[in-house]
Amino acid sequence: MVEHINRLEAIFTDAGIKFTRLKSEHSFEWYMFDYSPKRRNPALQGLKGQSWPSHNIRWCTTELKNMVVNAYFSDLRKKYTVIQLIGFAADEQYRLKREANQNPNHRHPLMDWGWTEADCLKYCYAHGFDWGGLYEIFHRVSCWCCPLKSLPELRNLWKQFPDLWERLKNMEHRTYRKFLKNYTVDQLEIRFQFEEERLAAGLPINTREFHQALKEKLKECNQ
Ligand code: SF4
Repeated sequence: MVEHINRLEAIFTDAGIKFTRLKSEHSFEWYMFDYSPKRRNPALQGLKGQSWPSHNIRWCTTELKNMVVNAYFSDLRKKYTVIQLIGFAADEQYRLKREANQNPNHRHPLMDWGWTEADCLKYCYAHGFDWGGLYEIFHRVSCWCCPLKSLPELRNLWKQFPDLWERLKNMEHRTYRKFLKNYTVDQLEIRFQFEEERLAAGLPINTREFHQALKEKLKECNQ
């Protein structure tokens, strides 16, 4: 993804279009492990960092994206009317219904053109942009350490990126909140390994019997 952005920067710059990278003053790690905001929840008093984001607390989207982008635009708005082009695809209409996406100065060219996510990917591939094959592995490419990824995406991360998986385990060992509601990263690893063993033995991994056996396995590993 970083290589892809570097490539875009070169293309824009060559074409005389200003390319600006926005970056939060602090890193994801700093917010996760070190930044302790005022706690409303008494159970979190004294704990360091914000820990993993969740569906209810997506501090990363707020701190690392929205606040940074909004600060940049609010400076620009002092001089200009700012029109933002948002890359929602034609098959993401549901996103327009969200209150945060009702801004009259937002434009959605992909929707106007009727381009779906698949159309966009096809167009990019045809023009030599392939993100180093990331979209062959993942359906959506979000932050590599995101706990909101689906189970199949996490399974692919475990299988294809063992170095990142080790980092993920290390991150979890340094924080207080579980990675997923039902699984720590270590438990997910046990599950994925168990699935591989079962598949190699020709056994299913989506039956009630599998889930019972997995439960036993996790219990055994926790002893
Ligand atoms: S992809 Fe996940 S970790 Fe990244 S900003 Fe979004 S919610 Fe946060």
